[in-house]
Amino acid sequence: MTTFANPAALQMVGYTLEELQGQSLYQLFNPTCVCEKQNAAACCAICHTLHRGEIHQITDEVFWRQDGTSFPVEYISTPIMEQGQIAGAVVLFRDVTEHKAAEEQLWYQAFYDSLTGLPNRTWFLKRLEQMMAHDEYDQNDHQFAVLFLDLAHFRLINDSLGHVAGDELLRIVARRIEACLRPGHLLARFSGDEFMILMDPIHDITDATTLAQTIQQVLAIPVALYDYHVHTTADIGIAFNSTAYVEPNDILRDADSALQQAKAQGNNACVVFDKAMRQKALERLHIEVALRYALEHDELCVYYQPIIDLATGHIAGFEALARWQHPQSGLIFPSVFIPVAEETGLIVALDYWVLRKACEQICVWQTLFPQTQPLTVNVNMSVKTLMQRDVLTQIERTLRETGLTPASLKLEITENVMMDQNDETMATLQHLSDIGVHLCIDDFGTGFSSLRYLHRFPIQTLKIDRAFVSTVTSDDESSAITQSIAALSHTLGKQVVAEGIETTAQLVYLRQVQCDYGQGYLFSMPVNSTVATALLEGQNTAKRQQQR
Ligand code: C2E
Ligand code: MG
Ligand code: MG
Repeated sequence: MTTFANPAALQMVGYTLEELQGQSLYQLFNPTCVCEKQNAAACCAICHTLHRGEIHQITDEVFWRQDGTSFPVEYISTPIMEQGQIAGAVVLFRDVTEHKAAEEQLWYQAFYDSLTGLPNRTWFLKRLEQMMAHDEYDQNDHQFAVLFLDLAHFRLINDSLGHVAGDELLRIVARRIEACLRPGHLLARFSGDEFMILMDPIHDITDATTLAQTIQQVLAIPVALYDYHVHTTADIGIAFNSTAYVEPNDILRDADSALQQAKAQGNNACVVFDKAMRQKALERLHIEVALRYALEHDELCVYYQPIIDLATGHIAGFEALARWQHPQSGLIFPSVFIPVAEETGLIVALDYWVLRKACEQICVWQTLFPQTQPLTVNVNMSVKTLMQRDVLTQIERTLRETGLTPASLKLEITENVMMDQNDETMATLQHLSDIGVHLCIDDFGTGFSSLRYLHRFPIQTLKIDRAFVSTVTSDDESSAITQSIAALSHTLGKQVVAEGIETTAQLVYLRQVQCDYGQGYLFSMPVNSTVATALLEGQNTAKRQQQR
């Protein structure tokens, strides 16, 4: 029986003292309690105290107000002893609504993505972990799949329409994907524009590929964002438990490998992971380890490909191209190691190394072969390198220490730099241009050429990609594109270099459309410095003979 309650307690439960007095406390606040009726073992803290004389504390209980509403409480019940007998209990309780709300908020922040309201990476991994730890997982007939989804060109939307529009697009995408799912599917936002779906269980892999296709179709419907109709596409990588996975990260890794493959295919691709991909991943790892070693043990070298002034036919400079002189495998080409270097970040050290070698070499040639327009050197620089904090220091130091004038250095960057533009990269490029370093866009026409960005970048040269040059005499579209790039460049006050000239017919056409420079097997393949020196000597001899 309740004998007393203080005013604070009365206010919290909405009773008057008169209403409470004489009533059973725990039946009022804990109507599910059966201890008293059944004289059973304690089921709540109050019963514990009354039946066993124990102090008892409970942190997650609910008390009921007179009006039928409830609130979470933390309470402690202490026995009142009289002459060795349990005479009653004192119950102290605290309304923990705010505390619970804060706890829920923390929980939400830890496991949910606030932008889309979807579970986040941590939650997804937990769920996967739980599922894989479950006995059922060992049974052969239990199949599940993980779909890794990445929106194509999301960055472009963020950059062109702004972050608010980008956020809105992500919310819309999340809702659209959700609408394709069935109970048992878990959708999470992994990061940025990456989403993950767990399908558990599936009958076979076609369940997953069908869902992937449905999602791709649904996402292809244009989204109205402000005044624009935005088209999104998604590449999807799928891994399913045909191979026994032990760790959640293993299946995520394979889904990611499949996604990378899908991205490489481009255009709304969906790829299911297979073992060959893992083999490929292992090979990459092998290359990475060997490349690290190569960088430290001077196994890399630089080859030089002449860049010809198409008006005079003379060598104007060279493009420096990295090569790997492997002790066992022989000369290894960039297509093998540059992608691995890019992925692992080794590209930064590689770029700096090539830069120094190339600057040293061109200085030697400038001294040996002085000409009115000093020889120049083109050095490829990855976006990753350009984004390094110390990139300016490194370039300036290399120029200073090798004694090369900045105007003799031409840095080749890809069109992606324009896509991934950020203020810092922009400032870096501007600074380089200010000190006189020449900047070129390499492989122009193959990326997502954003002509609208072109004038914003301090670029002096466009290098037309080999893909156009090689078909310039056989494909109308290529010749039109090449001609347009040349005309556009000249209008914008930029120079044009044609890459990959292999035939005289191509050369004739490129001269016709007034390409300034050319590079390709027709003139010379990339060669080592000794052969390049011989080429320069040959040219000097020819010039002297002409003068006589
Ligand atoms: P890139 O900068 O576009 O270099 C031109 C590539 O085209 C070179 O391939 C060159 O050998 C090749 N090439 C030149 N003329 C012809 C031709 O007439 N016909 C054909 N079929 N190919 C021709 P390479 O040396 O294999 O380099 C491939 C790519 O690797 C380069 O493309 C560049 O993007 C990258 N790369 C090379 N060295 C470096 C480096 O030091 N740093 C960075 N970041 N990338 C590098
Ligand atoms: Mg290049
Ligand atoms: Mg190129």
